[in-house]
Amino acid sequence: MPPAAPAIQPFALGPFETNCYLVTPSVRTESPTPDSPTPCWIIDASFGPAPIIRAIAEQRLSPQLLILTHAHADHMAGVEELRAAFPGLPVLIHRAEKDFLTDPRLNLSAGFGMPVTARPADRLLEGDETLELAGETWRVLHTPGHSPGGITLVHDASRTAIVGDTLFSGSVGRTDFPTSNPQHLVDSVRTVLYRLPHETRVFPGHGPPTTIAREARSNPFVPESGPTAFD
Ligand SMILES: [Zn+2]
Ligand SMILES: [Zn+2]
Repeated sequence: MPPAAPAIQPFALGPFETNCYLVTPSVRTESPTPDSPTPCWIIDASFGPAPIIRAIAEQRLSPQLLILTHAHADHMAGVEELRAAFPGLPVLIHRAEKDFLTDPRLNLSAGFGMPVTARPADRLLEGDETLELAGETWRVLHTPGHSPGGITLVHDASRTAIVGDTLFSGSVGRTDFPTSNPQHLVDSVRTVLYRLPHETRVFPGHGPPTTIAREARSNPFVPESGPTAFD
């Protein structure tokens, strides 16, 4: 039997149906109590994060980190609501987007006509570090292109990757924003994501899950080899 995998619960929230994820460890306490709740991570904070807050209470979870795959408004608009619900919850973001939370032009919300801000992140990621959830190791990979500080979280033991808006089932993230870079996106997909084991399950920032095998074989925008949509 393959090793148990962390549970990745999706919440599609806000006008862009942004996938926020609740991540719990492979091995969970059988019956968590208020005194010994199960630790979890929240990945991304879209508009209206109340369903995440409810699920955390119902499942007796204890959020340890709020990690943003990147800081476009549809991934950060709920940051302050989550901070209010879980005082002291550290917010992590890649260093290249350290100004995005406080700047509605950088996080693109100014362009939607509904400017959104949050206080700065509590910890800046560089890429290539590891983070531990209940003793299980995840790697942080820098996957820029859609945005300069896009990250991918990889749990190698279970072949699981949370990729934000870098790669979607049958598509890739937009690269027409002022801080996007199409060549960086192609490099992130090909030289970082497609080098993960092909059975890796991929959880994107929008739409259904996919696998590295499926995208490397059939993604119409960035195939594993040959011309891309950006050439
Ligand atoms: Zn985005
Ligand atoms: Zn998005």
